[in-house]
Amino acid sequence: MKTSLQLNTGASVPALGLGTWKLPNDKAEAVVTKAIVGAGYRHIDCASIYGNQQEIGQAFAKVLGKNVKREDVFVTSKLWNTDHHPDNVEAACRRTLEDLQLDYLDLYLIHWGIAFQPGGDLEPLDKDGWASMQLVPIQDTWRAMERLVEKGLARAIGVSNFTVPMLADMLTYANIKPAMNQVELHPFLPQVGLVDFCKHNDIAVTAYSPLAHGAVDDFGRSVVAELAAKYRKSVAQILLNWAVARGTAAIPKTADPKKLAENIDIFDFELTQDEQDSLTALDKNYRTCNPIGWWGVPYFA
Ligand code: NDP
Repeated sequence: MKTSLQLNTGASVPALGLGTWKLPNDKAEAVVTKAIVGAGYRHIDCASIYGNQQEIGQAFAKVLGKNVKREDVFVTSKLWNTDHHPDNVEAACRRTLEDLQLDYLDLYLIHWGIAFQPGGDLEPLDKDGWASMQLVPIQDTWRAMERLVEKGLARAIGVSNFTVPMLADMLTYANIKPAMNQVELHPFLPQVGLVDFCKHNDIAVTAYSPLAHGAVDDFGRSVVAELAAKYRKSVAQILLNWAVARGTAAIPKTADPKKLAENIDIFDFELTQDEQDSLTALDKNYRTCNPIGWWGVPYFA
């Protein structure tokens, strides 16, 4: 099984990375340090909205260039919705670089394809409980993202939570094609059509919430448990192996040192095609990350 993916820039991305959403501030530095130095992670997924980039930056400052070369760790971060205006994109990226104590990002993503009013509140809502949108075309945001590559602040740029029509539109104007689409993917939400579209257009895909945000017990009541017994692996390891076998990267989050080691130990077995298909067939269009609950917006409607 492949241990890395190739971006359309030529860069290589380790297929298994560490997610950092909800990694508590008081644990983030230690967990990321342990992940890189102890467990061998070489791909860390960050975002400004997670509010823990400064702590992760402490870990990077401690280990990069010392235990591990900077160029051997693939670091992703994401532009938040309040920073879509082209005048704000570079400043947001520079703040993230400062927090992470890095000179460049390996990948910078537009976190969501929706712009919010800037100014203080990171999730501003109107009187009806809907997100207060800023009328900024994605095209303008993308032009500003392209300038980050020209300036060397990001080696690659991409998107997150983009649907097929959003990508199809972006491909009509992108001077730099998006290198990545990071979306929610697990057997309860395999999004086969979206993954196929990305592959066909040479856009790599990262599976976020690859354990369905921790719904491991739910999978344990399915065919996944039989495969776990057959391969003497955990339910989580079966889910992550499935993700990588289908050609996506996966970025499970854990703050637990034992699970850090468990989640990256997935490359010593191969599910058969029938077994992979049986996991894909668990599809129930189950989204753990749905903005309708946060911003009123039926984003995936
Ligand atoms: P995951 O699917 O990675 O699940 C995380 C949960 O699973 C945590 O509660 C964790 O608990 C638990 N867990 C981790 N490993 C195991 C294991 N081996 N066995 C049992 N339970 C386990 O959910 P996330 O939503 O965190 O997604 C992963 C990453 O994807 C995020 O951290 C973030 O980086 C990214 N993401 C991106 C989004 C986007 O919009 N682009 C949206 C959502 C996520 P514990 O910590 O206690 O171990």
